[in-house]
Amino acid sequence: MYSTMQDVPLTVSRILEHGRRVHATSTVTTWTGEPEPQRRTFAEIGDRAAQLAHALHDELGAEPGSALATLMWNNAEHVEAYFAIPAMGSVVHTLNLRLPAEQLTWIVNHAADRVVLVNGSLLPLLAPLLPHLPTVEHVVVTGPGDRSLLDGATARVWDYEELIAGRPTRYDWPELDERGAAAMCYTSGTTGDPKGVVYSHRSIYLHSMQVNMTESMGLNDKDTSLVVVPQFHVLSWGLPHAAFMTGINMLMPDRFLQPAPLADMIEKVRPTHAAAVPTIWQGLLAEVLARPRDLTSMARVTIGGAACPPSLMEAYDKLGVRLIHAWGMTETSPLGTVAHPPAGLTAEEEWPYRVTQGRFPASVEGRLVGPGGEILPWDGESAGELEVRGNWIAAAYYGGVDGEPFRPDDKFSADGWLKTGDVGIISPDGFLTLTDRVKDVIKSGGEWISSIDLENALMAHPAVAEAAVVAVPDEKWGERPLATVVLKEGASADYTELRAFLLAEGGIAKWQLPERWAIVPTVPKTTVGKFDKKVIRKQYADGDLD
Ligand code: ADP
Repeated sequence: MYSTMQDVPLTVSRILEHGRRVHATSTVTTWTGEPEPQRRTFAEIGDRAAQLAHALHDELGAEPGSALATLMWNNAEHVEAYFAIPAMGSVVHTLNLRLPAEQLTWIVNHAADRVVLVNGSLLPLLAPLLPHLPTVEHVVVTGPGDRSLLDGATARVWDYEELIAGRPTRYDWPELDERGAAAMCYTSGTTGDPKGVVYSHRSIYLHSMQVNMTESMGLNDKDTSLVVVPQFHVLSWGLPHAAFMTGINMLMPDRFLQPAPLADMIEKVRPTHAAAVPTIWQGLLAEVLARPRDLTSMARVTIGGAACPPSLMEAYDKLGVRLIHAWGMTETSPLGTVAHPPAGLTAEEEWPYRVTQGRFPASVEGRLVGPGGEILPWDGESAGELEVRGNWIAAAYYGGVDGEPFRPDDKFSADGWLKTGDVGIISPDGFLTLTDRVKDVIKSGGEWISSIDLENALMAHPAVAEAAVVAVPDEKWGERPLATVVLKEGASADYTELRAFLLAEGGIAKWQLPERWAIVPTVPKTTVGKFDKKVIRKQYADGDLD
């Protein structure tokens, strides 16, 4: 039997028009460093997105399917670009502004970006790259910045406000194929060249609906979300698109991502929600413990991108802020799992669920695969590599050697599931606990030691601010753990004490205890704020951590 339902394409333009009309008064607030932040309603963002689309199409000749890049902080103009570019049929390519120059150049050339929209504050980053970006024909600059840096550029330079001024505030958005490309992000290329992940209109639409479900972030127009996670890091975990569906107000920090201004903006704007990686919350915690601020408006925080140490969750519980742990990847849009405990539990009973990575939503299937390729049971014990599939999970990467999509064997199974590179267990009631990344797990003798377990246990010590554990070569055991530890300001602890703590309180077995230690001023971080274990391993190999 056939269905009798309508088939309306799931496109970004529909999300935009819905937000503009139905949630016209919801706002995007951008922190500017001035006493008053900039506020723009969804209606204004919708008008300006239409104007931008006219400018890009009529003036800059942007074509359907071509990639237009953004090199921008989280702010209102970036939200406008998020909607204008895909709605008109082009592809918004968000560039990670923290990547080294060679990688950024490689990525822009690989995606063949024709236009770069750039915040004026980032011109010192873009200007020296431009001579190496032959596909870039236009640069559109928003906000203050030294435009003379672009003197002599072969690309044509435009001012964003002048470019969109006076253009129509309505656009007859084309009816697009929902399976067509809408946005792209590159993975950070910790191994080999970066890989492009291209989101479709359909995947963004469905993912946004999931973000809004109560089992994920579950926000609406009564909420204001502090979107710390960069718009270039997996599309801010889907928040801007989700916001236009349900009217979530957004607080955008622009370039003010340091703990002090974050604490200030929370106190002033009083967001009800926030999203960021653990290192941001570590930094903010130290800030508010040193100079107290009221964070209580922020009842819920989505934390992910790296394992959330349980001690961090406890510390925020005490401040009246509930950290909700989630797992995802660039390849998964990123919503994979979210750790909401099952109903009917006391706070104490909820705890073991909260520290897991959480449960899969209905549209994402997960399975664990053992070393011989066997599918493992969800018994809370069998550990294997996590593989996932679903409507917003990548099936391939963009542009292999022949320009075609490519599916490396170490990333995709023969039957089309994404290999996440993460190792974990799943409980009978569906809660995923990740023990490590395949590449970070410490293989000692025939046994595996979880770097995440060691880090979480160390970060529970009152003197420890951050701890990152990596595998280092060992003649006898193959590999052994090396613990690098950052102590809290004014605190002291030595290795003997930390080892004793791991044994007595951390649930760490004697054979898992690190023999090699380094107290360091900071743990190196990746471009999206995660512990950069590749750099730590290199520091050790170079003898810098002895
Ligand atoms: P990158 O690989 O450059 O860090 P992603 O942001 O796509 O880029 O990272 C995805 C990876 O981050 C996951 O495969 C996983 O290893 C890690 N990750 C994400 N969320 C969590 C979490 N809640 N707990 C542990 N690891 C996580």
